[in-house]
Amino acid sequence: MIKHCYIHIPFCKKICSYCDFCKLFYQEKMVNDYLIELEKEIKSIYQGEILETIYIGGGTPSCLSKKQLEKLFSILSILKKDNQIEYTIEGNIETTTKEKLLLYQKYGVNRLSFGIESIHSKNQAFLERDFSKEKTERIIQEARKIGFKNINLDVMYALPTENKKMLEEDIEYILSLTPEHISTYSLMIEPHTKLYIQNYHNISQDLDAEMYELIKEKLSQAGYNHYEISNFSKKGFESIHNLCYWKNKEYYGFGLGASSYRNSKRISNTRSWTNYQNGFWIKEEEKLVKKDIIEYEILLRLRTKEGINLITFKEKYQKNLQELYNYHLLKEKQYLIEEKNHLFIPEDKWYISNEIIVQLLGCERNE
Ligand code: SF4
Repeated sequence: MIKHCYIHIPFCKKICSYCDFCKLFYQEKMVNDYLIELEKEIKSIYQGEILETIYIGGGTPSCLSKKQLEKLFSILSILKKDNQIEYTIEGNIETTTKEKLLLYQKYGVNRLSFGIESIHSKNQAFLERDFSKEKTERIIQEARKIGFKNINLDVMYALPTENKKMLEEDIEYILSLTPEHISTYSLMIEPHTKLYIQNYHNISQDLDAEMYELIKEKLSQAGYNHYEISNFSKKGFESIHNLCYWKNKEYYGFGLGASSYRNSKRISNTRSWTNYQNGFWIKEEEKLVKKDIIEYEILLRLRTKEGINLITFKEKYQKNLQELYNYHLLKEKQYLIEEKNHLFIPEDKWYISNEIIVQLLGCERNE
């Protein structure tokens, strides 16, 4: 039974130079039309399950007007919510107001996620983002006063315009805001982005690794639990929604460009505005066989500190993991640790986790 739901709001008032997400420039009428179609999509697909998490992401959901946000929340009232639901909305500080925060609270949102990325004007100019310390602090304070007890802040690193000292200052600033959760992103310059066209390149892998280590060190010293490769939280504030992805659970994804995992199918929605508006929401579906599902399970769960619970794995797939993969060499090299019925990548090897996972999947035993 599906317990998780992602809603994509693809509108932004300013387009960032690195952006590779499904986004559109905000236009009032377009948003109104989008909400009509989103409602149709949800009504036609949602099966009435009680949801444990809803995540409104984007884009920049906070750039919708108050009236549009009211409409969005009234559409989402069709979704049945567990009493303990984790209900998140993403946004940026610039388009967030006290009135919008009150509206979120009125509709049961209990987790906020803001992209801060970097406090340095050089980095902000490079990313083509806006930042004001004064407004950031005011909005976080307002949110706390209103009663939000779970706030995530995003920090971005590995920018060609930054050095380790600047990153350290970014982390210190983020910590001074005492968020419950911190997500970190290493900048990847993707094809078709403005940065790519302008011929920027990713920083060296060595420097990227050093920056990653710096983040780990600073956030662990500050008492954050490094529970997933790029995510840190105070105890009890791990993102339940994101954990549903890493635990390979099924979820709904509604909206332009959204992805879903339901009925053992990985489904991608169209990124075409015209198709979406004409009711052709889905672009492609991939039906997974047991082997694919197991591979996803390994790939996703090994991103987390907890790793793979070997007992649950056996119950789910009727086979021990070691019957399917011969990974003793990876264990010998300490790339994988088996402890208390869990298999995981030790934290000091997370930077090379992709290589380790590829090696593990390559150790498949022939039946
Ligand atoms: S706010 Fe996010 S989605 Fe919008 S342009 Fe910037 S990176 Fe892309």
